Amino acid sequence: MRVLLVEDDRMISDATGQALRDAAYAVDCVSDGGAAQLSVNTHQYDVILLDLGLPRLDGFHVLRHLRDHKIATPVLILTARDSLEDRVRGLDAGADDYLIKPFEMDELLARMRAVIRRHGGNSSPVMSNGAIRLDPSTREMEFERTSQRLSAREFSLMQSLLLRPGAILSRQDLEDRIYGWNEEVESNAVEYLIHSIRKKFGNAVIKNVRGLGWMVSKEK
Ligand code: CA
Repeated sequence: MRVLLVEDDRMISDATGQALRDAAYAVDCVSDGGAAQLSVNTHQYDVILLDLGLPRLDGFHVLRHLRDHKIATPVLILTARDSLEDRVRGLDAGADDYLIKPFEMDELLARMRAVIRRHGGNSSPVMSNGAIRLDPSTREMEFERTSQRLSAREFSLMQSLLLRPGAILSRQDLEDRIYGWNEEVESNAVEYLIHSIRKKFGNAVIKNVRGLGWMVSKEK
């Protein structure tokens, strides 16, 4: 899951970025509206956390840019307590939810899971496909008769595949979903993660498509 964090307050940005990385998100941080627009034009994000008061272009501009360009990525706005008008304006401009600063990381993570889930057209908090069930709130996965908790990175990889059942994801696709800009990625990191997931659940849990990548088959 790749997140764009747009926040000009360095302390909030650092603390939030770290909490998101600890929760297995790949995070890109920018601190002004221009950089945010550039990022959304060049990368695909699963969710955007958007402060409204930003230098140069403000958050409303960024929001309008996204929706004008038919970028449907869920947006969670981060606002101050006394800014009811901003929250209303943000929601009306296409934001999916908001959080009032200062916020608790647990609440941020829960709201992110909720907007991502709704965006995927799911009302159930547990992702499932065929015999696979994955709970984003605990990282617990079930496959056939095995149930185990995934590591943060394993979870991120499995979630990326489950969001697009039937689609083949290349190593690059998966690296983009698992690692942020500043993270060093070992050349065989994706293979290593797949190996460790298969060790827990058996080879059938993820399919190899020779030369192209990996997938989970689309099932009910
Ligand atoms: Ca600000």
